[in-house]
Amino acid sequence: MTSPDRPGRAGLLDRLRTGPVVCAEGYLFELERRGYVQAGPFVPEVVLDHPEEVSALHRQFLHAGSDVVEAFTYYGHRDKLRVIGKDHLLEPLNRQALSLAREVAVESGALLAGNVCNTNVYDPADPATQTAVRAMFAEQVGWAAEAGVDFVIGETFWYAAEALLALEVIREAGLSAVITLAPHRDPVTREGWSFADACRRLADAGADVVGLNCGRGPATMLPLVPDVVAAVDVPVAVLPVPYRTRPDQPTFQSLRDPEYDRQTSGMPFPTALDPFTCNRFEIADFTREVRALGAQYVGLCCGGAPHHIRSMAESLGQIPPASRYSEDMSKHAFLGSDDVRSDHNRDLSGML
Ligand SMILES: [Zn+2]
Repeated sequence: MTSPDRPGRAGLLDRLRTGPVVCAEGYLFELERRGYVQAGPFVPEVVLDHPEEVSALHRQFLHAGSDVVEAFTYYGHRDKLRVIGKDHLLEPLNRQALSLAREVAVESGALLAGNVCNTNVYDPADPATQTAVRAMFAEQVGWAAEAGVDFVIGETFWYAAEALLALEVIREAGLSAVITLAPHRDPVTREGWSFADACRRLADAGADVVGLNCGRGPATMLPLVPDVVAAVDVPVAVLPVPYRTRPDQPTFQSLRDPEYDRQTSGMPFPTALDPFTCNRFEIADFTREVRALGAQYVGLCCGGAPHHIRSMAESLGQIPPASRYSEDMSKHAFLGSDDVRSDHNRDLSGML
């Protein structure tokens, strides 16, 4: 199948040469909140059960300013499907996810990305797992290549060596690769490499874009960015989770909410993170800061929603279609400027 490129349409690297690229991720969390993904297993069965919801979210993220349609194959790999006893759905799920994303990419002109992620199988001490992981990547990347993706996102890797394996498979398929590593509590990969070192190795191995995604919120991911930018010559990607992480609770898994200890076993991740969610203004601030540090490919992972993406795009000077509905509180019935309020509703703001 051919790529969704229209004649003259700029690819990922061309777009990065002329300005930042926004990529909305976080499909698992957003569709879980909407009632179409089960927290825990986190397998994207929604692709087959409710494809219209996946297509709708693709369109909503583009409407909000994403430049990329990422096929929802995150955790749609062999090991996750085995856990829920549905191995037979592996290929149909992947092909359907790619087809849904492709349809939206073609109609919109957005970039189409395939996706692979941490397999949860990789063990550096066990060569058999590395063979299995390579096969898992090869089947998913093969389906992505057949769907004509512009590039493949390999994301949320804790082991940089697993990311290198994904990169190798993506490059063997002749595709561009955006590879991002997930920072956990310690600012190193699971094998103990600094993120700067790991990203340098990925760039040297041919990744087109390298960086960080998931795990940490804006406040605790930003400090990792300067060393990564300094270490590589390729564009750097930064896609945190939009949660208010802080130095003593640097990841969204480490956040604690004593109010709800009983219901959440002391850990609000992943279903009780709502009170920690960043607002749109915090995301705008993050976007400006990360751009100033030199990141060129920006987005949000788990927890990101369209209003965040719009804020991100607008803070980059873009005007996505959703900006038509960006807030204008001057026209609010009770809080607006005096000339739009009825006499009856003047001076009420202190009572609300
Ligand atoms: Zn994530």
